[in-house]
Amino acid sequence: MKLGPDNKRAMLIDGELTEAASGQWIESVNPATEDVIGLVPAADAADVDRAAWAAKAAYPAWHALGIEGRAECLREYARRIQASAQALLDVEVADTGNTMAALRGDVNAASWGLNYYAGLGYELKGESIPATTPDNLHVTLREPYGIVGRIVPFNHPIMFATARTAAALMAGNAVIVKPPETSSLSATMLSEIARDVFPRGVMNIVTGTGRGAGDAIARHRDIKRIAFIGSPQTARQIQRSAAEVCVKHISLELGGKNPLIVYPDADVDGAVDAAVCGMNFLWQGQSCGSTSRLLVHDSLYERFVEGVVERVKEIRIGDPRSPDSSMGPINSKAQHEKVLGYIEVAMQDGARLVCGGKRPAGSAYTRGYWVEPTVFADVTPDMRIAQEEVFGPILSIMRWSDAEQAITMANGVEYGLTASVWTRDLRTAMQAVRRLDAGYIWVNGVGTHFKGVPFGGYKNSGVGREEGIEEMLSYTETKAVNFLGT
Ligand code: NAD
Repeated sequence: MKLGPDNKRAMLIDGELTEAASGQWIESVNPATEDVIGLVPAADAADVDRAAWAAKAAYPAWHALGIEGRAECLREYARRIQASAQALLDVEVADTGNTMAALRGDVNAASWGLNYYAGLGYELKGESIPATTPDNLHVTLREPYGIVGRIVPFNHPIMFATARTAAALMAGNAVIVKPPETSSLSATMLSEIARDVFPRGVMNIVTGTGRGAGDAIARHRDIKRIAFIGSPQTARQIQRSAAEVCVKHISLELGGKNPLIVYPDADVDGAVDAAVCGMNFLWQGQSCGSTSRLLVHDSLYERFVEGVVERVKEIRIGDPRSPDSSMGPINSKAQHEKVLGYIEVAMQDGARLVCGGKRPAGSAYTRGYWVEPTVFADVTPDMRIAQEEVFGPILSIMRWSDAEQAITMANGVEYGLTASVWTRDLRTAMQAVRRLDAGYIWVNGVGTHFKGVPFGGYKNSGVGREEGIEEMLSYTETKAVNFLGT
């Protein structure tokens, strides 16, 4: 793809590559340089309606194709994505600011996810239930909702548009994917690939803004199942919009302000490494699961702060295309301003800046949405930086003196996505695990999503679980059938 302001792209509706009915476009900007690198269609309600009609017409035959037929399509999609991996990566790096090294894993996760759900198809099974009527046969069947609207955030556009639609497709649904408006170019490439793999109308990719295409999906009567990944604020808006029209099943994978708790008996070097790795500076901190709050016991506190600062200073910020870079720019102007705003707020609230805190020095960074990896120490629970998700490269270090206080601090936010616990004592770990309000916990580890293990949040971090078998089953409705004895 030749990147530039003349690079007009198309989305996929009803098996055709198309522009928006309104003729409007959205600019894609390279966050490393602020150059316009392409234009994607600004779809609105008219385009979503067309996609929903196409999906409604397509899903019965897609479901009827059966498990093997659908699995073969998913596997073929995975193969073609792998065959186009480098071209996809070049575009995704320019469009998101994420580094090449990080994104390579996303493309692999895309094809892995498609193959995983292709293989899980035979688990789309119901049950037989004894009830209290031995002469009867009571069984359940799992049937697709029909159309699934999948709305995706900006941090992993390719992976979420593919691995996170695989389960819905495998369950027999047609899908409408809405990529993030700041980074939709890779979705236009996926449109070209998917057009040649799926029966017409089964896969629709509708680019557009949240208020335009996103809200139209939330409000469309025929899209009963919505799978959303993004912020709690948008999640609530989607729930509101949907509720004004009809009842829907909406699963929500949302943000986090995740704690990493270091107990006095922890492997300190391991925990320091985990603290830096778990903040996902490799993604500019733009990861829902980032452990952005380090809760460190008094006895280790100063040593820990020093260790973290030392490691963070080793992060090589730079051109995301370069294999030497371990951190790129923030995804968009708005997100950049948000991150810089939180740095100001943290300083005003009295947090101690121990690393970073500004745009990097040098002519390479005068344009683009750059910010240094940043660490604040002496953060207290009442500060905004301790409560609110930044979704940027800012790590907060807090101290505690008794175990009860650590758990209270860990749970004292509106979020509950991930948590990490560092101790050598199994009892301490078990007690923490039981009391933490979080959907995904690592003990003496951090960051990794393990294959097939369900991921999702407590509290305002979400509803439902993805990445395992639960996700696939969540795209089905249960039909109970009672065969009565005669
Ligand atoms: P966002 O909520 O601003 O946008 C996400 C998507 O929703 C985009 O495609 C956007 O266009 C769309 N959208 C916006 N307004 C909408 C509306 N009114 N109706 C329908 N759709 C609308 O989130 P973001 O800034 O792109 O991503 C960051 C957020 O995503 C963070 O909170 C992060 O933690 C979260 N996230 C969660 C997970 C997870 O698995 N739990 C993974 C990645 C990101």
